[in-house]
Amino acid sequence: MSTNCNTTSCQDSPLIGGVTITSKPKINLLGLDRKAMQDFFISIGEKPYRAEQVLKWIHFQGIQDILQMTNVGKALREKILNIAEIQIPTISYESTATDGTHKWVIRLMDGNCIETVFIPSETRGTLCVSSQVGCTLNCDFCSTGKQGFNRNLTSSEIIAQVWLAVRSLSKKQGSHDHAITNIVMMGMGEPLLNFDAVVTAMNIMLDDFCYGLSKRRVTLSTAGVVPAMYRLGEVTDVALAVSLHAPNDELRNILVPLNKKYPLNDLMQACKAYFSKDKRRYITMEYVMLEGVNDQPSHAEQLISLLKDIRVKINLIPFNPFPSTIYKRSSQTTIDRFQKILMEAGFNCIMRRTRGEKIDAACGQLVGQVKDRTRRSERIKKSIASTSYAPTHLK
Ligand code: SF4
Repeated sequence: MSTNCNTTSCQDSPLIGGVTITSKPKINLLGLDRKAMQDFFISIGEKPYRAEQVLKWIHFQGIQDILQMTNVGKALREKILNIAEIQIPTISYESTATDGTHKWVIRLMDGNCIETVFIPSETRGTLCVSSQVGCTLNCDFCSTGKQGFNRNLTSSEIIAQVWLAVRSLSKKQGSHDHAITNIVMMGMGEPLLNFDAVVTAMNIMLDDFCYGLSKRRVTLSTAGVVPAMYRLGEVTDVALAVSLHAPNDELRNILVPLNKKYPLNDLMQACKAYFSKDKRRYITMEYVMLEGVNDQPSHAEQLISLLKDIRVKINLIPFNPFPSTIYKRSSQTTIDRFQKILMEAGFNCIMRRTRGEKIDAACGQLVGQVKDRTRRSERIKKSIASTSYAPTHLK
C-alpha cells in the first residue's frame, strides 16, 4: 500500500477468502488520494478504476454512506464496508462575520479542535485550512503558536475541512458548492512539518475527481522548513507562500524562531529552487506589519536587497492582535510608506485586507482547542514580561 494510507490497519487488513476482517480499525477512505485509493482496491483484488468512482462519490457528491455508491456493485460495497469507512469529524461551532468571513471549529475524534476559515471576496472564495493541532514553531506574533502543540492532522482530517466547508457553504448559499475557488494551507500549524499528510490532502484538492482545483489555486504557506521545501518541489508545484516577516536574521530569529535553524540565506536559496523549472511563477512573501518592530523604511530597504534576485509578490499583513501579545499593528500611514518604498523598487506589493477579525478568524488568530503537550502557553505567559526584545512601544 501507499504510504498515503492513514490508518495502521491499511497495510495488513487481513482478507480471508477475500471477505473477512479482524477487529482492527477501519481504513478511512476520506484521506486516500487517487494513488492510495487505487492501491486499496488492488489490495482487495479489485480493479483500480474503482478508485475514481469512489473518490467522486466521496468528494464530489459528498456521500458518506458506502452503500449509497450505486455504480459500485452491491457485493463490492459490502466488501468495502467490512474494512473501510468514511469518517468525517463534526462541526462544534461556526460563526459568520459581517464581512462574510466564516469560521468553523471542527472537533476531532480525540477531542482536539481545529479551525477552518472561508474568506469570500468579489472574485474568489478562499478556504484557509489547518494542518496541525497547534504548532511547534512558536512564531512570536502568532496566536496559534502560543497555544502549544498536540499532534499532526491525518490526511483525512485535513481534507475533511474542505469536505465540510463545501457542504456547509452549499447549504447556506443555496448555490452550487464551488464557492471555494482557492485553498490556502495557512491555518493552524506548519504544513511542511506534516509533509506526507499535507501532500496527500493537496493531491485530493487538485484531483479532477475530487475538488479539481488548479495548482495555482492551492497554496502551501511555510515558515521556512528548508529541506522540506526542496522535497515539496520534487512532488508538486502548488503555489508557495513564505512567512517571512523580517528582512534580517537578527530580527527573524526573534519573530520566527525557526530562522535559527534555517537562516535567510538558506531560505532564499530554497525559494529560488522551488519554481526554477517555471520562470513565470512567483513566490508570495508574507510580511506581518508590527509597529516599531519591522515596519521602518530601513526594514523595507533591507527587504529590497534580500529579495532582489527572486520572483516574489509581497503581501503586507496588518497584525491582528490577540490576548497576551506584546505587539501592536502598524499604523496605516506606516504601512502605506512601507508599501510605497517596495513598489518604487519594482516589487509587486499589496496590503492584505484584514478579514474576520471580529470572530477571531483573521490571519494569526486561529487557536482551536489544543490539548497542549508542550506546556508552551504557560511558559510564554511567564517569560513575556522579561523579554529583552520588547517592541519600541513597550520600552
Ligand atoms: S505563524 Fe504559522 S508556523 Fe508560525 S507559529 Fe503560527 S501557525 Fe505556526
